[in-house]
Amino acid sequence: ITIADLVRESYKRIEEVDGKVQAFLTLDEERALARAEELQQKLGSDEGLLFGMPIGVKDNIVTKELRTTAASKILGNFDPIYNATVADKLHSADAITIGKLNMDEFAMGSSTENSHFAKTKNPWNLETVPGGSSGGSAAAVAAGEVPFSLGSDTGGSIRQPASFCGVVGLKPTYGRVSRFGLIAFASSLDQIGPITTNVEDNAYLLEAIAGLDPNDSTSANVNVPNYRSALTGDIKGLKVAVPKEYLGDGVSEEVRQSVREALKVLEGLGATIDEVSLPHSKYGVATYYLLSSSEASANLARFDGIRYGYRADNAENLIDLYKKTRAEGFGDEVKRRIMLGTYALSSGYYDAYYKKAQKVRTLIKQDFEKVFEDYDVIVGPTTPTPAFKIGEQIDDPLTMYANDILTIPVNLAGVPGISVPAGLSEIGLPLGLQIIGKHFDESTVYRVAHAYE
Ligand code: GLN
Repeated sequence: ITIADLVRESYKRIEEVDGKVQAFLTLDEERALARAEELQQKLGSDEGLLFGMPIGVKDNIVTKELRTTAASKILGNFDPIYNATVADKLHSADAITIGKLNMDEFAMGSSTENSHFAKTKNPWNLETVPGGSSGGSAAAVAAGEVPFSLGSDTGGSIRQPASFCGVVGLKPTYGRVSRFGLIAFASSLDQIGPITTNVEDNAYLLEAIAGLDPNDSTSANVNVPNYRSALTGDIKGLKVAVPKEYLGDGVSEEVRQSVREALKVLEGLGATIDEVSLPHSKYGVATYYLLSSSEASANLARFDGIRYGYRADNAENLIDLYKKTRAEGFGDEVKRRIMLGTYALSSGYYDAYYKKAQKVRTLIKQDFEKVFEDYDVIVGPTTPTPAFKIGEQIDDPLTMYANDILTIPVNLAGVPGISVPAGLSEIGLPLGLQIIGKHFDESTVYRVAHAYE
């Protein structure tokens, strides 16, 4: 089998199933096959970490001369003139980009129903959502269209869809992976991360994309270890904390049961398990929506009809052009966040909302730091329920926001978290186990995830 054969397999599978799953927004077959031929020439010498591997990329990661829309009408015709750092790194690692993956518009959502272009389906049950916002990234891997994909996670957008689709998704430590070329939603929370079918592949992909980047001042100057060497299977003596808030009332019984079973497995492997408390995590969702919407309202100001993408017709003057472009170009959820964020940042409200939320964020972060003084990892569910039906939550933003109660605190604290498959629900939908680690300690997260899977 040649590398081109491998790439063709991927497109063949996409042709077979993507009409139903609708994970991809853009395919890049010609270039992918040309790249496969190129790589074939250097087979056996100087092979990159992801040599010849097909990968899908979330559509908020800019790719040179390959349409990048963030699933928004306002970027519907945007062809970037440069690559995100992670796209360059994939290229250096000899991965082959197959195409761009559907998502909630500007990564705002938990079901991928907020895409302007398509509703991605959960491959396990086409009537249910794949989760979001990286729903295309998780569904494409679950459906066997690509073995690897990249997502982004601001409040749960890698881990929640990974959980819903029965795949492995990691949100790295804030600063671990460059955000240069990631279309910004909430810059103090956004991280790019890997989605794969198993933990080992995930470790390869993180190693390929991680590291300091002079183009992103928030990327950290911290050594990138060989994550694969952490996959020893040995977790004897490891100290696992289970926050009691993560197994409380809002979490469905079948999800709690699957976590209890996972804890037994970890205990059987020699880990010790204790109950702990993250007392401020209950304020996570409120804090997150204030901060992320505030940051989004500033980040999305650049979409004005002048510099990028869509421009409304028939504007009478400049202000009218801004107004019409943004009114026509953004979807409802994006507008909701811009309004909330603009309000929270306006004078007279800033102290009451934004500043208060910043303080609560610190308290949430300190909760994690305190637990990590005594424990190696924190374990709990990824989401309160398995995947829900398409349409079920779309008219009820608050219920939709509650999908992320267990993932959001991890972003607010900046620590790494993974979702690994943890059995099936009564009606046969995947459940996920979330494993959270210390800052820059993805190795231990992977070690536990690998021992468990
Ligand atoms: N569902 C959350 C939101 O809508 C998280 C999204 C994300 O992580 N990008 O904001």
